[in-house]
Amino acid sequence: MKDKINGFGMIAIGEAGWIEKDVPDIGPLDAILEPVVVSPCTSDIHTVYHGTEELNVSGRILGHECVAKVLEVGELVKDFKKGDKVVVPAGTPNWLSREALSGVSAHSDGLFGSLKFTLQQDGVFGEQFKVLQADCNLAHLPKNVSVESALMLTDMVATGFTAVDAANIQFGDSVLVYGIGPVGLMAIEGAKLKGAGRIIGVGSRSKLIELADFYGATDILNYRQCNVSEEVMKLTNGKGVDKVILAGGNNDSLNIGFSLVKIGGTVSNVIYLEAEPDFKINPFALGLGMSNKEYKGCFSRGGRQNMEKLLELVEHDRIDPSPLITHRLEGFDRIEEAFHLMREKNDDLVKVAVYI
Ligand code: NAP
Ligand code: ZN
Repeated sequence: MKDKINGFGMIAIGEAGWIEKDVPDIGPLDAILEPVVVSPCTSDIHTVYHGTEELNVSGRILGHECVAKVLEVGELVKDFKKGDKVVVPAGTPNWLSREALSGVSAHSDGLFGSLKFTLQQDGVFGEQFKVLQADCNLAHLPKNVSVESALMLTDMVATGFTAVDAANIQFGDSVLVYGIGPVGLMAIEGAKLKGAGRIIGVGSRSKLIELADFYGATDILNYRQCNVSEEVMKLTNGKGVDKVILAGGNNDSLNIGFSLVKIGGTVSNVIYLEAEPDFKINPFALGLGMSNKEYKGCFSRGGRQNMEKLLELVEHDRIDPSPLITHRLEGFDRIEEAFHLMREKNDDLVKVAVYI
C-alpha cells in the first residue's frame, strides 16, 4: 500500500501544478475513492488565476467533477462498498450542520461550505480522494447512464438546475439566460423542462450558440455584436422578461439582469461576482428599491438525493447533458492539459473529460 499520492492542484495564486500528498485518512462515515473520469471547471481556473488572499488554497489538490470507483468505506457506511462505481456531486455538504438542518445545505459549515473539495480538502484531481458522509453524498451510477452524462451532472447540470429552481419558472415564462457556457446551457435545458416559453440566450462562441439552439433557446443574442439590453426590450415589446438567470459575464451582469427583468420578476444568479468594493447597484434598475424584483444568489445544490433526482432525468431521457463534452483525453497526467484547455477556452471547447 502506498502512503503518498499525486494530484494536480494550486501551487500559489497564479500557479497550478503537480503536488504530492499523504494518502487521505478515512473516518467511519467516509469513503476513499479513485477517479475514473474527471473534468475541470471554470471555477478551478478562477480559484488559481483570480484567487484572492481570503480564498487562497495554495497546496490544495483541485477538481470537483468526477465519476469514481470506491476503494474503501468507513465502518458505518451502509450503501456503498469497495468496487462500486459512483457519481460524486461537486457539493458534498456536512448533513449534520445547522445550515443543512435549516435547508441551505449548500452553505453547510459556512459560506460555500458544501464545496469541500478545494475549499476544505483535496479535490478529485488526486490519485485518491475522500468523500465525507458517503451515504449522504454519493450516488450509484445506474447501468443505463453513461459516465459522460453522469460527469456533467456533478456540477454543470446541478448548478444550472439550481439556478432554474431559484428562478421559480412557470409555464409560459419568458426567461433570459445571460451566459451560455455549460452552466447556462443546462439552465436553458432546465428552463425548457420547467415549461418556459421564450428563452433568450446570451453568448458569443459558435459552439455555445449551436448548443444553446440544440437545448431550446428560442432567441440567441451575441453580446459582442449587439446591445443586449436594447435587443431584449425589442423582443419583449419593452416589457422585459419574467425571469433572468445570470450564468456569465461580470458584476455588470447584475445591473443588466435587474434592468431587464419585469416588475415582480426574479433574477437568479450563479456567477462568482468579482471582489470590487466600489461596485454599485443601479437604483433605477430596481425601481428605486421598490419594484418587487427578487434576487436569488445561489450556490450549487449538492448531495446524494439531488444527484439521484438528476440521474432519474437522464435515465428517463428527459435531459441529455453529454453533448457538453467536446474534448476527451486519456491518462491521469493529462489532467494538466485539460486544465489549460479549459483556461484557454477555444471557440470549439465546452467541457473536457479526462479518462483516468
Ligand atoms: P463559461 O464557460 O466561462 O461561460 C460563460 C458564458 O458567459 C459564456 O457564454 C460567455 O460568452 C458569457 N459571457 C462572458 N462575458 C460576458 C459578458 N460580458 N456579457 C454576456 N455574456 C458574457 O462559464 P461556465 O462554466 O458556464 O460557468 C458560469 C459561471 O458559473 C462561472 O462564473 C462559474 O465560476 C460559475 N459557477 C458557479 C457555481 C455555483 O455554485 N454558483 C458552480 C459552478 C460554476 P462567450 O460565448 O463569449 O464565451
Ligand atoms: Zn464547478
